[in-house]
Amino acid sequence: MTVHRDFVIVGSGIAGLRAALALADAGRVLVLTKAEPLDSNTGYAQGGIAVALGADDSPDLHAADTLAAGDGLCDEAAVRVLVEEGPRYARELVAWGTRFDTDAEGRLAFGREAAHSVRRVLHARDATGREIARALWARVSAIPSIEVQAAHRVVDLIVRDGRCAGVRVLGDDGTVETIEARATLLATGGAGQVFQETTNPAIATGDGVALAYRAGVRVADLEFVQFHPTALKLAGAPRFLLSEALRGEGARLINQRDEPFMTRYDAAGDLAPRDVVARGIEREAAATGGPIFLTLAHLDAAFVRARFPTIAEACAQAGLDLARDRIPVGPAAHYVMGGIETDVWGRTSLPGLFAAGEVACTGVHGANRLASNSLLEGLVFGARAGDAMHGPERPAVLRSSETVAIDEPPGATGPVALEAEDVRALMWRSVGLFRDRPGLDEAIVALDRAFGAFRATLAAGEVRTAADWRFGSLVTVGRLVAHAARRREESRGGHFRTDFPVRDDVHWKVHVAERLQPQPDTAAPLQRR
Ligand SMILES: Cc1cc2nc3c(=O)[nH]c(=O)nc-3n(C[C@H](O)[C@H](O)[C@H](O)COP(=O)(O)OP(=O)(O)OC[C@H]3O[C@@H](n4cnc5c(N)ncnc54)[C@H](O)[C@@H]3O)c2cc1C
Repeated sequence: MTVHRDFVIVGSGIAGLRAALALADAGRVLVLTKAEPLDSNTGYAQGGIAVALGADDSPDLHAADTLAAGDGLCDEAAVRVLVEEGPRYARELVAWGTRFDTDAEGRLAFGREAAHSVRRVLHARDATGREIARALWARVSAIPSIEVQAAHRVVDLIVRDGRCAGVRVLGDDGTVETIEARATLLATGGAGQVFQETTNPAIATGDGVALAYRAGVRVADLEFVQFHPTALKLAGAPRFLLSEALRGEGARLINQRDEPFMTRYDAAGDLAPRDVVARGIEREAAATGGPIFLTLAHLDAAFVRARFPTIAEACAQAGLDLARDRIPVGPAAHYVMGGIETDVWGRTSLPGLFAAGEVACTGVHGANRLASNSLLEGLVFGARAGDAMHGPERPAVLRSSETVAIDEPPGATGPVALEAEDVRALMWRSVGLFRDRPGLDEAIVALDRAFGAFRATLAAGEVRTAADWRFGSLVTVGRLVAHAARRREESRGGHFRTDFPVRDDVHWKVHVAERLQPQPDTAAPLQRR
């Protein structure tokens, strides 16, 4: 079945919903999500949204902190858009009913997070993303021109006459639909699930990057993955995020002997950039042979429980008192800085296709994202992509200095040697916090083979179930991350090579984009389950 809409948006997180609102008066908008509408990384965001609205703050200061965190690889023009337009869009969120925390006088309260030089993080206790999503969803639901279809997984982009003409969708009931639209936005979020240890929910399998890559669209900077230092680390339990705002409010990292240790690894101590803290934790654990903890026992217990109710509840469910106990922590994959390469209007290398939010690589995060800048990115660039989708069509102005095509792996027809869980374990082991050439080589051999086998199965029309598509996304994105990580022989931001531990601006102050060889006009065949 084929249906027609003016605009199709894939994803109902902050970027997708904000884009939908920008398009509300421009035609019929269809928002597709593979899960429930509020099931997204956005709904999990705890700490808050960074925005230069405080009396002691300015867009210049916010830009300086963003550029410093990005470790020499931010796109400065994109950063200026983010920090200068951020305040306007954040005020709009407040006007639309988002209830951020306020001080005793009713003024917006700003939280502090690592690598921010001032308090600038608007928050709604420790469930900021849920509150923003609630407000956006309430607004979207009231607009008749915006239709939302849950449980609809986009599995292919339709490319016709060199432009994106829409998407192909697999419903949870096994039905297959084609949706044609004059502009398509990918707002599919992150890819944390590519790694065994992750703070991300199940939806974050990198589908947008995989869809775009298969359609010959440029993707860039995928070696830059942010590993959050403090996820709750309990055997057999998912890695629940313990927000950086905890350390912003005074929580300390300690080793098993109760010693604070982070100043041994960086002068900024517990508030050093995330990648530095994450590696510090791993090194300290290796040096002391024991677990690492977060402690808030020296803080006022009533304040801790009131400021972090969601985290306190998650700890309580694990039998831990956030305000009193030592909380075991470890790093976990959290955010992918790279993605589908876009300009500052969300345009991609394929006309008719836009990308915004975590799936996009606007260049605002460079090699490492400043905490709480991603909700802001989704908000600002979601709105801008929506504006561009109904404006006059212009070609994207993309930044990468180099575009490469990874060699096509031979199409393997035998059984795929890897299962989804093997891919995730391999990525964590060999393409995680500490990378080196032998480990990356080993990972690439396995991932190339699995990717080749997946494409062969796809060409044969044998990729049918949601689990098949999930596997395809994990393998496609994992392989792209591994190749990019092997190529970049330096350490910068979230990318750390033990065999090239130093930043090398002479050779590597560049963005590298990859693309698959141009694809034929028709998408791969898809069969009903
Ligand atoms: C635990 C946690 C805490 C965080 N805390 C913060 C924070 O405090 N501040 C901050 O700035 N950032 C934070 N982040 C990051 C931030 O939440 C995300 O980067 C941001 O919300 C991404 O928004 P998005 O709109 O791009 O994608 P998402 O919110 O992830 O939405 C993606 C949407 O795409 C849909 N989708 C995916 N694939 C398909 C497909 N194939 N077909 C159809 N639909 C699809 C999903 O179902 C979902 O609706 C946090 C992330 C996590 C995981």
